[in-house]
Amino acid sequence: MTDATQGVRGTQGAGGTLLVGRAAVITGASSGIGRATALALAGAGVRVGLAARRAERLEELEKEIGRAGGEAITIPTDVTDYGQAEAMIRHAEGTFGGVDVLVNVAGVMLPAPIAKADPADWRRMVDVNLVGVLHATRAVLPGMLQRGGGHIVNVSSTSGRTHQPLFSVYAATKHGLGAFTNILRKEVHPNRVRVTLFEPGPTESELGSHVDPEIMESLRDSMSSVEFLKAEDVAQGILWTLAQPDRINVNEVLFRPTDQRDW
Ligand code: NDP
Repeated sequence: MTDATQGVRGTQGAGGTLLVGRAAVITGASSGIGRATALALAGAGVRVGLAARRAERLEELEKEIGRAGGEAITIPTDVTDYGQAEAMIRHAEGTFGGVDVLVNVAGVMLPAPIAKADPADWRRMVDVNLVGVLHATRAVLPGMLQRGGGHIVNVSSTSGRTHQPLFSVYAATKHGLGAFTNILRKEVHPNRVRVTLFEPGPTESELGSHVDPEIMESLRDSMSSVEFLKAEDVAQGILWTLAQPDRINVNEVLFRPTDQRDW
């Protein structure tokens, strides 16, 4: 660990700032991209706070990381509730002595035609994908600003750039996340807080498991020719972003399967 004057804590080496000893909170750590990111960061020597609603999954992951020699803590959290998001950050700060990195991964995708969609599904996507990120960011920023360093990675999607039928509200949350993230960067860079918008394309995970089966079937046709990314691929991309020296702020990463062309 280093002193508070260094900005983001870590050891400054010839190749740039190393991640060893830093502390991160990862939302959505109970499956898919969040889980893979937690494993990748822990493997790089980062102490990780694992946040999501399913505590048992997080406890299993905590044990797995511990067996591999890493350090993790379970923080059961529903990011749609500001009180829980704040408690998540305070728990991590109390345990690790500060939070250097926040990776906002938690999200849900519930595609549907606008004329038939359930407004409750719209609300859920807005609450998790957008408001959840606002909550976690609001809770972590005072500590980062005070210390003069930190890194926030917001996981958006190619849907944050495209306009595909059925994905209207999911895309709206991700377009909104893009706007929020880019404005956040402008507000906090004077305090040496880095902000990255990370936009993966289709990735193997549990994201599709909540989708209406008929809609899933119709999507399967358009996606059958694409070899999806693995969650571990995306995690390695996020790790690379975080491992850059403090002078480099990777603003945006578009990370798509080689086969992905039209969306
Ligand atoms: P998963 O469904 O595998 O993971 C989603 C995660 O979000 C789970 O850990 C889930 O945990 C968590 N989550 C959902 N609701 C809440 C909540 N209210 N509070 C806290 N955590 C919550 O999907 P992915 O890993 O694929 O998705 C991760 C992110 O990546 C999402 O933001 C998604 O939009 C984005 N993405 C995914 C792509 C893909 O093709 N898979 C492509 C582009 C972007 P729990 O249920 O335990 O709370």
